[in-house]
Amino acid sequence: MTQSRIYLSPPHMSGNELQYIKSAFESNWIAPLGPNVDAFEKEIAEKTGAKGAVAVSSGTAAIHLALSLLGVTEGDTVFCSTLTFVASANPILYQGANPVFIDSDPESWNMSPNALEKALRVSAFEGKLPKAVIVVDLYGQSARMNEIVYLCNEYGIPIIEDAAESLGSLYKGKASGTFGDYGIYSFNGNKIITTSGGGMLISNNMKALVRAKYLATQAKDPAPHYQHSVAGFNYRMSNLLAGVGRSQLKVLDDRVRLRRKVFNMYFQALSDLPGVKFMKELEDTQSNRWLTTLTIDDRKAGITAKQILDALNKQNIEARPVWKPLHLQPLFKRAKYFMHDEGGSVSDKLFETGICLPSGSSLTEVEQHRVIRCIRNIFDSTIRKRVEMKLQEYEV
Ligand SMILES: *Cc1c(COP(=O)(O)O)cnc(C)c1O
Repeated sequence: MTQSRIYLSPPHMSGNELQYIKSAFESNWIAPLGPNVDAFEKEIAEKTGAKGAVAVSSGTAAIHLALSLLGVTEGDTVFCSTLTFVASANPILYQGANPVFIDSDPESWNMSPNALEKALRVSAFEGKLPKAVIVVDLYGQSARMNEIVYLCNEYGIPIIEDAAESLGSLYKGKASGTFGDYGIYSFNGNKIITTSGGGMLISNNMKALVRAKYLATQAKDPAPHYQHSVAGFNYRMSNLLAGVGRSQLKVLDDRVRLRRKVFNMYFQALSDLPGVKFMKELEDTQSNRWLTTLTIDDRKAGITAKQILDALNKQNIEARPVWKPLHLQPLFKRAKYFMHDEGGSVSDKLFETGICLPSGSSLTEVEQHRVIRCIRNIFDSTIRKRVEMKLQEYEV
């Protein structure tokens, strides 16, 4: 009998979403825009401490708007974390600009301040500084924002913080996503809270956010007829989905608590295994632990990350490798890349050895024990095999 599938990060409804949708139906606010959109923006701003927010159709759209607001255009350069989902960098291409990828730092897995400094120094020397830096907070863990903000300020480069995965996380007591000129969140189905699809752009620059709303609604000029002087987008969030978002936001703290609990249980059950290392939480940060991630040192473990992933998938458990670094993607094969240090690319190593475990806030303890048992069994049989091989050596 095959066991039911355990998913990596499935949507988890609060139970009150339909109330919000119902009230939108009753007032016939089915359009994009409407009271749920306004309220959701206000509530996200309050929750994160940003001055304002603009609800949009996806996290990708929010990044695209931020680049557009910063005037990124054809031929410009934009720096971006390499270890991330492709959506962090695709909007650079939408603007006809060129991405330059920055390696991870081994502790945080996020943008290496070392590599960033080198990239800034080299591009200043070449007379081609980037128009923006996109910093990702991977799997809920904040990047080293103090160092990154300091470096970017030194060169006068604006920051877009891609906090798609880190809503509810804290860096030195302040909400993840609020450290750049712009921050973005995603409410895609797999994220910590979801509107089934959606995103948010946040900023303290209220004037820029007014412009963002204008650009996101086809850039209609103030005129009695339809008049347009720049190319806009159709990027606004629908009032129905904003209702789902409002209900989800109310349970965000609970979702963070549950995901952290999932992490702690994995940590307790697996951290004694040889070669297993969990992603760290940097000092004075709190990760939402969107996904529990770890690396496997195959020399110590006697087994590779890939073999563990295969074994989990055979048991109908959805586990994934960590993001394939963007500098390794065929799409970006011509892009420049700056490494953490001369010791080799950190992100390549994380990709080779990293695993994301099922981490949904609706994961039951029974399900989590199934995942844990499966991983411990793989290690036990590896150790058994090694002992048998040693014994055979002695016999001959
Ligand atoms: C999910 C994600 C995005 C894109 O968000 P969408 O809402 O799916 O467009 C961007 N960056 C990162 C790091 C993500 O994980």
